[in-house]
Amino acid sequence: MKIYPQPTELFINEAVEEVDDGCERCGARRLARYRVVDYRGWLRVVKCRACLHTADAQRIESPVLSGEL
Ligand SMILES: [Zn+2]
Repeated sequence: MKIYPQPTELFINEAVEEVDDGCERCGARRLARYRVVDYRGWLRVVKCRACLHTADAQRIESPVLSGEL
């Protein structure tokens, strides 16, 4: 079973939602919420765009299996 389809585009266009909060590691106000996929499946994360600290991560249903992608 594929958890992510083979991209046909040159760049992946994932919507990134800015989060109005500061990073607890580096202090930058550059937190963003978006989806990622790892070897165990999909997550919705809040990560710092400056230092890549993960402020939050929750497992979500695969948007591939649900037909969203
Ligand atoms: Zn940071």
